Amino acid sequence: MADLVGQVAIVTGASRGIGRAVARKLAAQGATVVCTGRNREALEETVSMISAAGGAAEWVSFDVSDGVAARETVREVHQRHGRVDILVNNAGITRDQIFVRMKPEEWRDVLSVDLDGVFHVTQPAAKIMMRQRSGRIVNISSVIGMMGNAGQANYAAAKAALIGLTKSLARELGSRNITVNAIAPGYIETEMTAALTDAQKETLLTALAIPRLGTVEDVAEAVSFLVGPGGSYVTGVVLNVSGGLYI
Ligand code: NDP
Repeated sequence: MADLVGQVAIVTGASRGIGRAVARKLAAQGATVVCTGRNREALEETVSMISAAGGAAEWVSFDVSDGVAARETVREVHQRHGRVDILVNNAGITRDQIFVRMKPEEWRDVLSVDLDGVFHVTQPAAKIMMRQRSGRIVNISSVIGMMGNAGQANYAAAKAALIGLTKSLARELGSRNITVNAIAPGYIETEMTAALTDAQKETLLTALAIPRLGTVEDVAEAVSFLVGPGGSYVTGVVLNVSGGLYI
């Protein structure tokens, strides 16, 4: 389906995992995808994959916790392409620790990337979209933001905050033809969840309505719906892609 031809998409955290799959999916739908992250080699690899499949992509390396770099990157993308149609805020980290032992830097690091990072990239992008009078923003939250999880107070706080941000922005930007939605993945097989032991995976499967871990493509399909023509009247929602881990 070439329903995103002529559109420019920025995907943060596109160097691997869910972000890479989202970038590949949007490019396959015809968007020109700006793949961002910190690891230059991995970003180049994402772009090569997209080019090999006949898609259009480029990469820009910056740290989303750096507000100046984020603003500058969005500005440059806009200058180069004349528009920013889609923003997928996907970059994220975990620093798991039980709360009473959590170091201030473990708290701060997660909030800086998973929440401040979204502010840094979205604000300049939203200004461009407002002038365009069109845009789609998708924030990758997590079911943990709604369920909580022992050992992930920092991550759950950041991901819950993203949901509040999503709903507020949906209200602020709707009149400018901009939709803002969140996706809450459950457990998706990526480097982030690779540390789970087989025993932990077994226990997890019993909590799922659909007894398998999710794939990065499962999440990419949901993003594709929200940014595509079918998603034009959907805003302010949290779409769970969790196999029923959270219902
Ligand atoms: P990965 O760890 O596989 O990838 C994370 C991505 O984020 C990488 O591309 C990384 O790029 C980028 N990133 C991390 N820190 C920064 C930073 N400071 N600046 C810029 N980019 C950064 O994670 P997943 O693909 O699994 O997760 C993607 C998103 O989905 C995250 O927001 C995560 O919280 C969320 N999620 C994942 C779930 C899962 O089960 N996997 C479940 C629920 C939510 P680089 O290293 O190049 O900087």
